[in-house]
Amino acid sequence: MAPAPAPVSGTSAAFLRSGPTKLLIGGEWVEAADGSTFETINPATGEVLMTCASGQAADVDRAVRAARRALEGPWSRVSPAERGSMLWRLADLIEHHADLLAEIETLDNGKPLAHSRNDDIALVVDQLRYYAGWTTKIEGQTIPVSSDPNHFNFTLREPVGVVGAIVPWNYPLQMAVWKLAPALACGNTCILKPAEQTPLTAVWLGRLALEAGIPPGVVSVITGYGETAGAALSSHPDVDLLVFTGSTEVGRAIVTASAGNLKRVALELGGKSPNIICADADLDKAIAGAANAVFYNMGQDCSAGTRVFVADEVHDEVLAGLAREADSRTIGDGLTPGVDQGPLVSEEQLDKVLAYLAAGEQEGAQLVTGGARVVGDGLGRGFFVRPTVFGGVANDKKIAREEIFGPVVVVLPFSKVEDAVRMGNATRYGLGAGVWTRDVRTAHRAARELKAGSVWVNCYNVADPASPFGGYKESGYGRDLGRDSIDVYTQVKSVWIDFG
Ligand code: ADP
Repeated sequence: MAPAPAPVSGTSAAFLRSGPTKLLIGGEWVEAADGSTFETINPATGEVLMTCASGQAADVDRAVRAARRALEGPWSRVSPAERGSMLWRLADLIEHHADLLAEIETLDNGKPLAHSRNDDIALVVDQLRYYAGWTTKIEGQTIPVSSDPNHFNFTLREPVGVVGAIVPWNYPLQMAVWKLAPALACGNTCILKPAEQTPLTAVWLGRLALEAGIPPGVVSVITGYGETAGAALSSHPDVDLLVFTGSTEVGRAIVTASAGNLKRVALELGGKSPNIICADADLDKAIAGAANAVFYNMGQDCSAGTRVFVADEVHDEVLAGLAREADSRTIGDGLTPGVDQGPLVSEEQLDKVLAYLAAGEQEGAQLVTGGARVVGDGLGRGFFVRPTVFGGVANDKKIAREEIFGPVVVVLPFSKVEDAVRMGNATRYGLGAGVWTRDVRTAHRAARELKAGSVWVNCYNVADPASPFGGYKESGYGRDLGRDSIDVYTQVKSVWIDFG
C-alpha cells in the first residue's frame, strides 16, 4: 500500500469550506449574475473540492466596464514606479502564502506538492519581480526624421487597454501570472479567466492583488467555462487584447471570435515537440532529460518533448533507459511525500489519454512500458495513468502526430541528424525542440534548422522570466515572458511636433 497523502493544512481546509467562491469584478466579490456555479474536482480522488461562481456573458460585460473605468481613471494616474511597487508587493504576498497556494494548486490540479511549491509558486514570484522591474523601463524613441528640419518626432509606448487573459489548467497560477504581470507592468487592466478545471489559485491571485493595493477594477477574475465566460471575453467589443494559452483548436475559435472588433490576439498553443538524441550525446544526461521532458507535470505541458528521435547506434540503450525512467517514477496523490507523478487533471483528460494509448496499440506501435490506467494502491478513484513509452512508431502515426497531453512518449530511430531535424519539423506545431549532442556544430545547426520557438541543447524545458517563450507555426504567435512580451502588451504612438 502506498504511503498516505499528507493532511490538508488548516488554512487550506478553511478556504475550501468557505465556498462557493465568487467573481472579482470592480474590486468586489460577487456571485454570477444568474447565480450559476460549477464544481472543481480533486483529480487524485475524483471528489468535489469546491464550488465556484460560473461567470456568464453578463458578468464578463460588467468586468469589462469596470476594467475600462479603472484604465481611464485611477490606474492611469498610478506612476510606473508605483505600479512596480504594487507588483513587487504582490510577489511578496504570494511568497508569504506560498505553502497555502502550493497546496491548493496540488489539490486542484493534481501535481506533486514539491513541484507546486518549488517550481510553480517560486517561478510566479520571480516573474512578478521581473515585471515589477520593467514598469520604469518601457520607453519610446526619438527618431531623426528627414522630412523637415523643424520636425521633431518621438514615440510613446502605451498600454493596449483592457486585456482579456484566458489560461489553461496545466500550470494554473503560473499561466495566470505570465499574462497578468506584463499586462499590469505595461499599464493595462486585466480580466483573468482561469480554466474551469483549476480555478482556485486564480481566486487567490485576485484576493492578493487587492491586498497589494492594486486599484479596484484593474484585476478582475471571472471563473467559469470556456464556452461561456471564455467565449464572451474573446468576442467582447470593448476588450482590446486577448491573450491565450491553451489548445490550438480553442486558439482558432478565439481568433474567429475576436474578429468583431479586430482586437489584438496573442496565442500560445499546442505542440508535438521533437527531442533529438545524437549518438555522441552524454546518454545518462540525455535519457534523464528526455524522460523529464515528457513525464514532468504528467506530460500536460504544451512544449513536452513527446517525440524522441534517437540515433540508430544508441537507440536500444535509450529506449531501455526511457522505460527504466518511466517505471521508476513514484505515482500517487500529489500530497503524498516523495510522489513525482500525480493524476491527470480530469476524467476527460484521462479518457483522452487512454484513447491515445489504445490508438497506439491499434496502429501497431510497440508498447515498451506503461499503457494503462493505475487502478491499485488506493488510486483507482483518481485519474492516474502510467508513464508510457512506445517504440517502433512511424512519424506519421496518430500518436506521433497529435498532441496527447499525457505522460506518453514515442521513440523514433534516425540514421542522420538531418533526417531527425526534417522529421522533427514535419508537424503543424512549432513550440519547443531539443537536441542532445557533444558536437558544437550539430548543436548550432540543429538550433537554426528546428522550426520552434524554443530550442534546448543538452537540456529541455528550461525557462526564465527574462527569456521569451512562444510558438512557430500553429503553436501560436506573440511571446510570453522576457522583453518580447512588452511588445504584446503595448502599442506605439508616433508624435510629431513642428517647431518651425
Ligand atoms: P485544454 O484543451 O488543454 O483543456 P483548452 O484550450 O480547452 O485547453 O482550454 C484553455 C482555456 O480556454 C480554458 O480556460 C478554457 O475554459 C478556455 N476555453 C475553452 N473553450 C473556449 C472558447 N470557445 N472560447 C474561449 N475560451 C475557451
